Amino acid sequence: MFLKLILSLFLVSSVHASVVEEGFFIFDKEGKNLKLLTSHKEITIDHKNNRGYEAYGPKGLGKYLEMLKIDHEELAEMTEGNKDLNGYPTPKEIEAKLKKLALGNESFLKLFSIGKTHEGRELWMVKLSDNVELNEVEPEVKYIANMHGNEIVGRELMVSLLEELVSKYKSGDKEITDLINNSEVFIMPSMNPDGAKAKRRGNGQWADLNRDFPDFTTTDNSNDHKGREPETQAIMKFQAKHKFALSANFHGGSVVVNYPWDTHSDDAPLTSLIVDLSKEYAFEVPEMRNSSRFQDGIVNGFRWYHVDGGMQDWAYFYYNDLQVTIELSDHKWPNYSEIPSFYEDNRVSLIKYLNRVHQGAGFYFPEAKKAKGKVEIKKLKSLPTDVVTSVGTYPFSDGEFYKVLPEGDYQYKIILDNGQIKTMKAKIQFKADLTNGNYLAL
Ligand SMILES: [Zn+2]
Repeated sequence: MFLKLILSLFLVSSVHASVVEEGFFIFDKEGKNLKLLTSHKEITIDHKNNRGYEAYGPKGLGKYLEMLKIDHEELAEMTEGNKDLNGYPTPKEIEAKLKKLALGNESFLKLFSIGKTHEGRELWMVKLSDNVELNEVEPEVKYIANMHGNEIVGRELMVSLLEELVSKYKSGDKEITDLINNSEVFIMPSMNPDGAKAKRRGNGQWADLNRDFPDFTTTDNSNDHKGREPETQAIMKFQAKHKFALSANFHGGSVVVNYPWDTHSDDAPLTSLIVDLSKEYAFEVPEMRNSSRFQDGIVNGFRWYHVDGGMQDWAYFYYNDLQVTIELSDHKWPNYSEIPSFYEDNRVSLIKYLNRVHQGAGFYFPEAKKAKGKVEIKKLKSLPTDVVTSVGTYPFSDGEFYKVLPEGDYQYKIILDNGQIKTMKAKIQFKADLTNGNYLAL
């Protein structure tokens, strides 16, 4: 209680997101101070390693750490006079690159803004698909990078990935043509251009966007965008309009694939599938594959360090959109000349992961586009005995549903809100039937 009182003298708390105006590395090998620090919701912990962890908070955090004699050092990224972008493009230059990429490719690439940042910058999203202007019945997959403004590698890799996808689609590369023609791929290079411009973690209001989402384990559990940061609101509204089945968000400060949950110690639904997808990503990236810290280059978020209000868990819990968090680089702002080698290390995994959206099955109601209800999914096994295991029950709306699942035979029992029941069987095999994307018309 005494500490809470002292802390409140230093820190001003915000409604949702943590304010990240000061950032320190805390030397705390054994995590002795973790409990105390995380008991203050104003303090954000990130990137635990074998020496300690990062701690961010509003102005006053440094004074507080000094008062408690907690061994700490100011993070170089937070110090003033470190705003030189070091050769990296400005948000304006990224915007120009995306516009150039869209030019002449409008038949399969659509560049659009899903909202504006606090400082008025557009939040650019790229959609790649055939019939790109239409919302077709195809699996939807997305990548979002740079939600922490100073974690810049993801933004650059997204631009490089877009360049590769565009050039390979135009040259008729089979894998990329199949991907783009049979799915809807969404890529957002920068969710926090204000932070990227200022070379800082928070957005234009110093808020940590990856602590600003609804969280099913806290009191901030209503899936309502009101009162959140403008960038968070834009993502929440965008997600609600789509049927994403698979996604990833990209960070820096470590090299590992972090999988859900971040916010709870329980296993997330379909954990073995999530682990397989995470391992597949990590396997092609030498620094992940050979990681001495993280076995197989992957880690469960909660076991690493607890995060409330993260985007990954929000997407999976509220939208059944399987999302992982990919940490791309130990240095958050490495030398710009290193970007091509980061891309070279990640490009195969980036494309493979997008393709995995085709390991699933769904249905749609061509005559009832507003149909909604729930789907009970069971996994079937015909030999040696008829074993049936329940996968789960999922809501659906807008006459459409699709889910990424482990390979195998499934039964979907579709219970419409009007009382009608339909059943379908699905054989799920990676890329078994691209042409209909494994959708059944009901
Ligand atoms: Zn981050």
